Amino acid sequence: KAKDAGGGVYAAYHPNMHDALMQRLSLADDLRLALERDELVLHYQPTVDLSDNTIVGFEALVRWNHPTRGLVPPLEFIGVAESTGLIVPLGRWVLAEACHQAVAWGRPLKMAVNVSVRQFEAGDLAATVAEVLTETGMPADQLCLEMTESVLLTDTDENLARIVSLKALGVMLAMDDFGTGYSSLAYLRRFPMDVLKIDRSFVDRLGSGDAEDETLVHTIVRLGQRFGMRTVAEGIENASQVAILREMSCDHGQGYFLSRPVPAAEAGRLLETGLPTLAATN
Ligand code: C2E
Ligand code: MG
Ligand code: MG
Ligand code: MG
Repeated sequence: KAKDAGGGVYAAYHPNMHDALMQRLSLADDLRLALERDELVLHYQPTVDLSDNTIVGFEALVRWNHPTRGLVPPLEFIGVAESTGLIVPLGRWVLAEACHQAVAWGRPLKMAVNVSVRQFEAGDLAATVAEVLTETGMPADQLCLEMTESVLLTDTDENLARIVSLKALGVMLAMDDFGTGYSSLAYLRRFPMDVLKIDRSFVDRLGSGDAEDETLVHTIVRLGQRFGMRTVAEGIENASQVAILREMSCDHGQGYFLSRPVPAAEAGRLLETGLPTLAATN
């Protein structure tokens, strides 16, 4: 953190910084072992077509099934994985596992996988994706890679070339958490993204009766449509948000109201039965 503060600035040393550092180091070691010991697991959150409530796909979300700490959420270890470079093998494992699962379900589904900046910029992601598609037999157009604005923020020719080679494989690309970064709308034009995911913080405010909050989301939906992108609303937590987003012709939705991320077996059951919450409100 002190280094993040800028050139030559070092925060005063506190005893608890040593603890924090030791914790990070042991986390990094543990994470390395976790990969070897197969302690990572994917949960799957359904993506729902808001026009007819059907499950059109899933987003794969990694968890660490830690022997003593239980199920650890990604935000507690993705950062360490990034700073140690472990994100590259971890990311490959996530890709392979998610594709493997999608193929095992045996029906046309979109499988979305999150890709972090470091994973995008280190190594040859396109080559990894190509390998995984071949290994698993996953059709390229069923895989969607989600990236945050920070990936596109470094608007270099190199990153553009990376995007282009991913697109050349036939996979879909999604802009995750749209609206939260230092959005330069220019990159919507420059990068060929297929899907725009409206961040939960905007969806959150829908249904409060505030017209400006609604206008904001409506405008983002239109923006996506005008750029020929599929629009997906994240973090839908109630029925009124579904109704408003449907009215706006937002294509797809995700959120606890529709379904929480669930283990593979449960996701498979949801595919058979459809979503219980929606069946009840129909
Ligand atoms: P994200 O890609 O934006 O994923 C959405 C997060 O919001 C997930 O948290 C999901 O469980 C949560 N969420 C979904 N619906 C709702 C809702 O209605 N309300 C609320 N409050 N939250 C909701 P999760 O699984 O903890 O993941 C957090 C972030 O960690 C993800 O954000 C993504 O950036 C990152 N992540 C997860 N899995 C991976 C992975 O395999 N690789 C990489 N690089 N990053 C990952
Ligand atoms: Mg995501
Ligand atoms: Mg997101
Ligand atoms: Mg988000």
